[in-house]
Amino acid sequence: MQHHSGQHLLSAMCLEVCQAETLSFHLGQDYATIDIARPDLPLDQLMMLELEVNDQIYLNRKVTNYVVNQEQAAVLSLVKQPKVTDDIRIVEIEGIEYNACGGTHVLATGEIGMIKLLRVEKQKGNMRIYFKCGYRALNEFNAGMEILGSLSARFNTAKEEILDRIEKWDQEQKQLQAELNAVKAENDAYLAGKLLADCQGSLIKHVFMDKSLKDMQNLAVKPTDQADLVVLFVSNADHKVLLAQGGEGGLACGAFFKQHLGDYRGKGGGSDKMAQAGFATREDAEAFCHFTAQSLQGE
Ligand SMILES: [Zn+2]
Repeated sequence: MQHHSGQHLLSAMCLEVCQAETLSFHLGQDYATIDIARPDLPLDQLMMLELEVNDQIYLNRKVTNYVVNQEQAAVLSLVKQPKVTDDIRIVEIEGIEYNACGGTHVLATGEIGMIKLLRVEKQKGNMRIYFKCGYRALNEFNAGMEILGSLSARFNTAKEEILDRIEKWDQEQKQLQAELNAVKAENDAYLAGKLLADCQGSLIKHVFMDKSLKDMQNLAVKPTDQADLVVLFVSNADHKVLLAQGGEGGLACGAFFKQHLGDYRGKGGGSDKMAQAGFATREDAEAFCHFTAQSLQGE
């Protein structure tokens, strides 16, 4: 009753405040919506609309219903033309509207309690307004307060200061990331030197337990930048294989991957200089790596 009567008021105020007709509405268990004939609805207008509907609720306008015949209905300015021709049931919100409606309504708008417009979204060129009335609006408020309370406890701060705390936390994260990147770069330089020292021939092959593809890409740049070498890395953590080369001619990494990945159920590709692929299992990744190493050494 609260939702349905609230929808009557909201639609009436949309017409008055936004000159927008209500095209359809949905009154669900969890939420209610109306679609209005407008291409947009800026936040300030939405807030004005919400205030206007609440004003009409607090004015506690009488809601009555009665049955009229076709001639009597014709002199009333009805919101929309009724579907029936006899015994037309009119719902009148005092001073607001006459609506031919068979639903159940509150006796006065004050019983709606309140309306809260939650959000809007575009819907086929029109605007859909999500709203809640009465106890549902109260429940929505309580659910929001519960989330705020959890955040407040999680950040150990008053709710007014949560946004500041998140901003600080964000800054700390950025700083930590920068520090981590610096440490990784230092570690990569050390690791690249070690791989170069251990390298036999022109192939550097290494299996990493926990490096991500991005980390392997960063690392591969170092040795291949310095010399005419081929780098073949495997990540056991996410079944990825990386192939990179520093030479001008000969091997084209991307083309090699494209030609052979299918045999090992791998997906990927890349440029002449660097290619990467992902595999369903660690065994597939290792088998492809083994095959690649043999092909390269066989050349
Ligand atoms: Zn109604």
